[in-house]
Amino acid sequence: MTKAMTHEMSCDLEKAFEGISSLDKDDIALRATSYWDASPLEAAKLLLPKSTEEVSRILAACNAAGQTVVVQGGRTGCAGGAVSAAADVVLSLEKMNAVEEIDEIGQTVTVQSGVVLEALQSQVAARDLFLPLDLGARGSCMIGGNIATNAGGVNVIRYGMMRNLVLGLEAVLPDGRVISSMKRMLKDNSGYDLKQLFIGAEGTLGVITRAILKLEPRVAAHETALVSVASYDAVLALLALGKKRLGASLTSFELMWGDYYRAVAKGLGVRPPIADGHPYYVLIEIEAGDETGGGAGVQTVADRLMALLETAMADDLVTDGVLAQSEQERREIWRIRDDFEPILREKPVYLYDVSMPVQNMQDYIHAVEKGLARFGGGAVLHVFGHIGDGNLHLFVHPGPSHAGDDARARLAAEECVYHPLRGVEGSISAEHGIGREKKRWLGVSRSAEEIAVMKALKRTFDPKNILNPGVVFDL
Ligand code: ZN
Repeated sequence: MTKAMTHEMSCDLEKAFEGISSLDKDDIALRATSYWDASPLEAAKLLLPKSTEEVSRILAACNAAGQTVVVQGGRTGCAGGAVSAAADVVLSLEKMNAVEEIDEIGQTVTVQSGVVLEALQSQVAARDLFLPLDLGARGSCMIGGNIATNAGGVNVIRYGMMRNLVLGLEAVLPDGRVISSMKRMLKDNSGYDLKQLFIGAEGTLGVITRAILKLEPRVAAHETALVSVASYDAVLALLALGKKRLGASLTSFELMWGDYYRAVAKGLGVRPPIADGHPYYVLIEIEAGDETGGGAGVQTVADRLMALLETAMADDLVTDGVLAQSEQERREIWRIRDDFEPILREKPVYLYDVSMPVQNMQDYIHAVEKGLARFGGGAVLHVFGHIGDGNLHLFVHPGPSHAGDDARARLAAEECVYHPLRGVEGSISAEHGIGREKKRWLGVSRSAEEIAVMKALKRTFDPKNILNPGVVFDL
């Protein structure tokens, strides 16, 4: 018996899937496992439902048969939460990609979960509204995945994580029951807020099929500055000053360590907006509303950014700086923060997204560097972070002497990155989630009691453990 035959679906299941779009084995193998892993996707069957009713039918049948199901959206997740195995049924939401309604008065949008983030951003912008969620994978990640992982991104300091943007949600439980709370009010205290359970649960409690998201008025303009900073203390002082002076207009405060900045600029072959060689670079962005009605003498948000930078220069918090003079220049500044592809070129590279109080970050990074130095073999660390949100992204190259033993090198790097979090009130995941890759470290961020309650919830929602089994934790 060949391996493929081992994973043939039972006749009952095949029958239950009748009429639902699907891919057969050959076509499944044409897809990559994920953005991060180009090897062919594995699955016994890949289903492409077009409605909540079809999702419900698939799950009810799989639950009855004890068939495992892995849910997929844009497959850009960083923690392996959507990686399937040969025996799994893959349920891809990509055909549920309708923007059902944009409510300009209530400022909400009703979407199916397979809508690509960037497509939704532009449809909403065409109606003079703004979806605050934005992140590097915008061109392929899908709203359902954004909700399932409680995505963060670059505007969190101003608008919060995905959880803050979801007003209503529809999800299908592992047994096929549909839980619909497609409400569009800001306020609803009628009992447990069930939708919150599905947000950030990484598809382990149910399959998110539709949502109502909160929108904001269109942002009239952005003002973007890039500055270099000589010390971490000065970075903290600049953040405190920025929060005080800019208030709610501050949307991004992104810190790049000097090595990261140099490596990305060099790898992209671009002339960096400020010369490299400084210890830190900070990208500050504010949104400027329509201030034409302010009258003479009213300081615009853009003026306030300028004044902030002047104060920061005078106080020696900032050593050099540029203000983007055009959308083109703004994009060039963002590209160095956003496009870390050069850092991914050398393999292997391990990604981490930790969080902690911002005051603890420098000590933490020193502890990681110390660990990696002990680990030896020329390990290299690159760091940037949405530090306004207490979030750091770390990239570790284990170095040439660890070549050929990826599993050991990965574990050693994880120890260097995760152990020091215990001393700094940190979390092993700020925004990527736990997936399959971080579950052995869950105890660093969560108490035994918390994990026990999570497992009890999983057993209640999914007693047969068919849905994304092995994601977040093993039962
Ligand atoms: Zn991020």
